[in-house]
Amino acid sequence: MRMSINKLERRVVHSAAEIAELRDNLEQAQREANADPLTGIANRKMLEFELKRSAKEAAGGDKPFSVLMVDVDEFKQFNDEYGHQIGDHALKLVARTLAQGIKRRDLAARFGGEEFSVVLVETPLDGAIKLAENLRARIETTKLESEGVSHGVRPVTISIGVAQYREDEPLKRLVGRADRALYRAKEQGRNRVVSERDIEVHGRPKSRAKARA
Ligand code: GH3
Ligand code: MG
Ligand code: MG
Repeated sequence: MRMSINKLERRVVHSAAEIAELRDNLEQAQREANADPLTGIANRKMLEFELKRSAKEAAGGDKPFSVLMVDVDEFKQFNDEYGHQIGDHALKLVARTLAQGIKRRDLAARFGGEEFSVVLVETPLDGAIKLAENLRARIETTKLESEGVSHGVRPVTISIGVAQYREDEPLKRLVGRADRALYRAKEQGRNRVVSERDIEVHGRPKSRAKARA
């Protein structure tokens, strides 16, 4: 009798350890499913989740959120000049700078390739423009040596388009406005911030020549 109780106890302890391990594995898998493998920041899936959540949260309130669309300037040329590995370090640097430059409830995500997005909760357009300008300036002045890259590599720059959420609009429209502002930033010479205010006249988009090749 005592033997079998001991055995049972050992089994229970063993099962509890197994459950704890499975839970750890599940948490890690969930984290990985939401992260971009190269940069470690949120991926596009997480971004879309966060945009939906922010739209719900902003409903009926007086503090809309804003979105930044970020694109590394002339990155193809940067890769050609220094190689893809150093290019990858540059992407990590951009990701880290974005992630470190925002508040805890905001989100920086890799949209894909050399494009990133930032969701700024409870931040109207003017605040978002200021923050975008701050991020742009930080990237311009950060040397890639901070990523362990040897000397002699020029800094990368980014262009940013900024838009503020309008209640009840589809999220695609919000992202589209930020994207058009980004195109305008490219058109105007890159390494700059342009907001939706600079691309719309009386609520209608200004003509939009494609700046990106
Ligand atoms: P623009 O200023 O107009 O944005 O020019 P661009 O050269 O940045 O734009 P383009 O779309 O022509 O090129 C994007 C480049 O980004 C090409 C591609 O090789 C590079 N890229 C995309 N993803 C990665 C990546 O994960 N690692 C590296 N090293 N390069 C990447
Ligand atoms: Mg691009
Ligand atoms: Mg680019």
